[in-house]
Amino acid sequence: MQISLNHDFSDKVIIITGAGGILCGFLAKQLAKTKAKIALLDINFYAAEAFAQEINNAGGRAKAYQTSVLDLSSIQASRDEIAADFGTCDILINGAGGNNPQATTDNEFHEYELPENTKSFFDLNQDGVEFVFNLNYLGTLLPTQVFAKDMLGKQGSSIINISSMNAFTPLTKIPAYSGAKAAVSNFTQWLAVHFSHVGIRCNAIAPGFLVSNQNRTLLFNPDGSPTARANKILTNTPMGRFGNAEELVGAILFLIDERYSAFVNGVVLPIDGGFSAYSGV
Ligand code: NAD
Repeated sequence: MQISLNHDFSDKVIIITGAGGILCGFLAKQLAKTKAKIALLDINFYAAEAFAQEINNAGGRAKAYQTSVLDLSSIQASRDEIAADFGTCDILINGAGGNNPQATTDNEFHEYELPENTKSFFDLNQDGVEFVFNLNYLGTLLPTQVFAKDMLGKQGSSIINISSMNAFTPLTKIPAYSGAKAAVSNFTQWLAVHFSHVGIRCNAIAPGFLVSNQNRTLLFNPDGSPTARANKILTNTPMGRFGNAEELVGAILFLIDERYSAFVNGVVLPIDGGFSAYSGV
């Protein structure tokens, strides 16, 4: 993809949370090709720093900032550092998110008789559920509170949230993650409306099944063969394959580049090979 030819964001500051992770680190590297200044925020500084170094080594402009998206003072401190280093935010990508094993059931369906030690719905742990809702929902809301203040009235400013296709229809086993991503989609629409008079667009992408650290053990056995769950996913994905991170880039560029999407506001764009459109029949 000829990103540098088609999109010139040399006057923009792009802030990405969760940028030490697989998807957002990759997105950071791709978006750096627009010549934007990229601020990579993550609770894991070293992970974000590794991606920032890669970007700088390739001739881009990037810096990592240790930030917890659940701590307003940490976000505010990063905001001040970024403003001094690069200027204030033009584009915010709320990428930090994820699930937690304590909020995940072992079985897809509850049964009258389950083997001993099965983690059923009745064993879900309140802390685990709160962790997932906080990370995905509050972890999107708090950075938006801090960074959107700088975006008010700024030409071409926009927010991208990361939802999931499980926001449309919940996946089995992961009630908290599905619910939290549904909340992220809902919040995306709310923000789009709320900021519509002050020049900030807000949209989301809803990725389908991409292979990453978050889901690798759910999708592949230790010997590398697909799990029963992975086979089920592939059967229910009309395009018959998993997605990859490259396939998110065009959607993000479209949504953040106002030359293409100035009147697109409040959409949650599925990138899922048709998974969310398919009834299975
Ligand atoms: P990942 O686990 O590789 O990355 C998540 C990053 O968030 C990690 O670097 C982690 O350190 C960081 N993080 C965790 N808690 C944080 C906090 N409190 N403050 C700041 N950073 C924190 O996950 P990923 O697969 O790259 O996913 C990125 C986003 O895409 C997430 O929102 C995820 O829910 C969403 N998503 C992923 C997929 C997929 O298939 N991988 C599908 C749909 C949606």
